[in-house]
Amino acid sequence: MARAPAATGDSSSCGHDGFHTMMTRYERDSGLLVYCRTCDSCGALVGELGREPYRPSFDPRGCQGFTDLAREGRA
Ligand SMILES: [Zn+2]
Repeated sequence: MARAPAATGDSSSCGHDGFHTMMTRYERDSGLLVYCRTCDSCGALVGELGREPYRPSFDPRGCQGFTDLAREGRA
């Protein structure tokens, strides 16, 4: 996975006028994916692009139908 260049951490003197990186963070309590931009020079959050509801759900039998077909030689 590509990572943003290391930020300096000093946002007080940065104009945030260089490159920005889009990233996503997950707010577990509210169940939201937040799309935002950060400044590559200082790492500061410079804008939010949107929010989308998301609650991960795992179904341990989600592939059962496909594995059954494979076992039967029909896939
Ligand atoms: Zn900056």
